[in-house]
Amino acid sequence: MLLGVLKERYPNEKRVALVPADVERLKKKGHEVLVEKGAGERAGFPDEEYERAGAEVTSREEVLKRSELIVSVRNLSADRENFLKEAKAYEGKTLIGFLDPFGVRDLLPKVKELRITAFAVELVPRTTKAQSVDALSSQATVAGYKAVLIGADLLPKMFPMLMTAAGTVLPANVFVIGAGVAGLQAIATAKRLGAVVYAYDIRPAVKEQVESLGAKFVSLGLETEEAEDKGGYAKAMDEEFYKRQRELMKDQVSKSDLVICTAVVPGKKAPLLITEDMVRGMKRGSVIVDLAAERGGNCELTEPGKVVERYGVKIVGALNLPSEVPYDASLMYSKNMLNFLNLILKDGRISTEDDIAKETLLFREGELVSERIKEFLEVG
Ligand code: NAD
Repeated sequence: MLLGVLKERYPNEKRVALVPADVERLKKKGHEVLVEKGAGERAGFPDEEYERAGAEVTSREEVLKRSELIVSVRNLSADRENFLKEAKAYEGKTLIGFLDPFGVRDLLPKVKELRITAFAVELVPRTTKAQSVDALSSQATVAGYKAVLIGADLLPKMFPMLMTAAGTVLPANVFVIGAGVAGLQAIATAKRLGAVVYAYDIRPAVKEQVESLGAKFVSLGLETEEAEDKGGYAKAMDEEFYKRQRELMKDQVSKSDLVICTAVVPGKKAPLLITEDMVRGMKRGSVIVDLAAERGGNCELTEPGKVVERYGVKIVGALNLPSEVPYDASLMYSKNMLNFLNLILKDGRISTEDDIAKETLLFREGELVSERIKEFLEVG
């Protein structure tokens, strides 16, 4: 199979989809890998390393012309503008990457016309068997880690408690809202830095995981089994629920030095959990890092892509944090891709027989086949 790796074009995207060590592994399996010049440069993987690994480093045009299967970090809706610019070049090809399957509605005719086959890593099932290909999780881990570092950097105080000859420094209070993959990594990172960490999630199953990391679970009395769907994701609740949640969280938010927001519901706008009034009630110098910014934000004052200061509180509208740790984020993503390719490449052809591949398949030769996305878009 002729595999292609492009230099990501999405603004500020520094990751690369396959790193040289995994290119070498694919070569050993008999595949050819074409890599666009400079594809790994920003992540710390120079062209020479790809060449040493056996890849052919060439122009974007060549990669697009010759590859049968293109492995990307972002493609289709996740990089809509660039996809549309060079759409014709994707004709008849197979794509793997973050494709933002919930956002493909307007691309359906184009994908059909071009007979594109596409696997969206967002659709990888959350099962034990699928863990090694779960790029949403590997990248959320990086985001959770980086969110804490950004918060720690902006705070005018330290995280750990210090008892020194110059007096006692009290530890920082960190509150993590949403304890999925990113939230749990944020908790672990903040704990390692010495903060006192609190966390909340509407899924009650999470309490034990939060406590196992040494954080305190904030019980609001709202957590309910009904908030979790069968895939393990949170369900969207009604506005009355969120209103109640905001009221009950207000006190915890006001006591926190750093609030990390990660609460999202797949395919929906992020719930509004911190109002302007709640920000006004926070201590001066406090920080909010809103990882839900990409989906509208959990905080009313979040401006995606910006750091704003309101009422003495810095609010970080964090976008694409995994790209800010591009070396390790790429290593992890690439390993996910390698494992996925090993699942689907059989005797030089693409097989969708494996359950994981079946669920991840978004388009087959231009036809939308993902039941989950068809249901979401309400298309037959
Ligand atoms: P996510 O990114 O979709 O959401 C982040 C967190 O926000 C979730 O924990 C969610 O419950 C929470 N949330 C949503 N609305 C909220 C609200 N109003 N208030 C507070 N919190 C709210 O979640 P994720 O990180 O993708 O994880 C989703 C689930 O999948 C988790 O149960 C996770 O453990 C599970 N998971 C399983 C596997 C696996 O088995 N292979 C892999 C990854 C994740």
